[in-house]
Amino acid sequence: MKKITIIGGGAAGMAAAVMLARKGCAVTLLERGDRLGRKLSATGNGQGNVTNLHMGPAYYFSDDREKVGRLLSRFSAKDTITFLESMGGIFLPDARGRVYPAGRQASAVTDLLRREIARLGCDVVLGAHVDSLTYDGVFCLKWGSGQMRADAVVLAAGGKAAKNLGTDGTAYALAEHFGHSVTPLSPALVQLRCDPKEVRGLKGIRMDAALTLVRRNRQIFSTRGDVLFTESGLSGDAVFQASSYAEKGDTVLLDLLPDVGRERLAAAVEKGGLLCVVPNGLGRMLAARGNAETLIKRLPFTVTGTLGFDYAQVTRGGIPLGETDENLMSMLQKGLYLAGEIVNVDGVCGGYNLQWAFTSAAAVSEGI
Ligand SMILES: Cc1cc2nc3c(=O)[nH]c(=O)nc-3n(C[C@H](O)[C@H](O)[C@H](O)COP(=O)(O)OP(=O)(O)OC[C@H]3O[C@@H](n4cnc5c(N)ncnc54)[C@H](O)[C@@H]3O)c2cc1C
Repeated sequence: MKKITIIGGGAAGMAAAVMLARKGCAVTLLERGDRLGRKLSATGNGQGNVTNLHMGPAYYFSDDREKVGRLLSRFSAKDTITFLESMGGIFLPDARGRVYPAGRQASAVTDLLRREIARLGCDVVLGAHVDSLTYDGVFCLKWGSGQMRADAVVLAAGGKAAKNLGTDGTAYALAEHFGHSVTPLSPALVQLRCDPKEVRGLKGIRMDAALTLVRRNRQIFSTRGDVLFTESGLSGDAVFQASSYAEKGDTVLLDLLPDVGRERLAAAVEKGGLLCVVPNGLGRMLAARGNAETLIKRLPFTVTGTLGFDYAQVTRGGIPLGETDENLMSMLQKGLYLAGEIVNVDGVCGGYNLQWAFTSAAAVSEGI
């Protein structure tokens, strides 16, 4: 029986463990933290947005988007739902195609996977921070006081985002040892920092807004969704999407009432001011700046940066897809497979990153 060791007990590592054990492999899962799936349990504001029915390579950033498309066509959103429901549970889409467990609890998705991993008899070693991976005919893995050998290794140790959930970017070195490169890394799906003066007094206000990102008078990106004002800038789904394209110095323009035309807005403001037009805190700020009607349709914010890796949901960049075969096996070391966020693939907001974790786990398990 083939002995497979998986480094990283996140979404990709746990899914790969289940898929490989179901195929009859002897699987060991090594996780540096004190439990499996900590990040998975925090996803989707704790509700677990596991995939999206609107799926395709256009929703991803990578050095080889076509390959992402090929892999997605082998294991797409419906396969993710089937895979998860094979362990129990019900997974349902919302109006925007975002798929959640019916109970809306991300930690329950982690529990499904954990339970299946235990049922299949996989070995799970917690507190195993692998810091050495070498090959001398078989793989040799070392951590703290432990070590083991394996016929094949799945490196699913995540990226550099959200280090409080176990991923600080140190795992790239395990692949670099075999000659892999790592593309430039940057935080993605992250809050945008703005001039603090522009957001003063707005903290906590949330609106459904149309967002346009402008650079040197050119529209770079536009979307519609949740915008949350924070102490240091802008957050929310729409802002996370824009963060994939934003650069320091760009302007974010918000239309705070995208479904209301200028005439209707003007009539309401003339009758009753800004009451019941925008939240009061925002109304006070707009009134102080004057020209409130215009600002409601085009409220500008200057991007001064992002909140960085610690606050990002995902990592842009990683080990190039081009350095792997069609089953995500390393082209530089036979038997070494790569899955999840450690690879240079990241998706927009809405379930695309977990879909990549499951898609890549499926490719790896087919390859092995
Ligand atoms: C707050 C938040 C919310 C999110 N919400 C969503 C969402 O709703 N939908 C969505 O699609 N995506 C979401 N994402 C992104 C998604 O969670 C990640 O892209 C996905 O979890 C990546 O899976 P992974 O298995 O590759 O890595 P991870 O889930 O990061 O798992 C990697 C694991 O490897 C372990 N590890 C690291 N180094 C080592 C080592 N040397 N030895 C042993 N173990 C190691 C880590 O402790 C970690 O448990 C969210 C991310 C965050 C931070």
